Amino acid sequence: MGCEKMKLCPFFAEFKDGFGSHYQVMIQSYCQGVLSDMCKRKKYESVEGGLAPENLCPSGHYSKRLTGQHT
Ligand code: SF4
Repeated sequence: MGCEKMKLCPFFAEFKDGFGSHYQVMIQSYCQGVLSDMCKRKKYESVEGGLAPENLCPSGHYSKRLTGQHT
């Protein structure tokens, strides 16, 4: 089970390790879990076309933790 986009997903690549339990729960629930079809990144990409912004979370909110900032 898991999202078919996992290997190419910028959000997954950036947030799969670290960033605390909040992000780990999202990864486990959406990317690796049963909520994959409800991912807002997928919805964004199907509606808007192209890639969703890297910091758009599968839950639909925008992370303030930008790429490369592991603080
Ligand atoms: S963030 Fe969404 S598109 Fe990316 S791997 Fe997770 S469920 Fe798939």
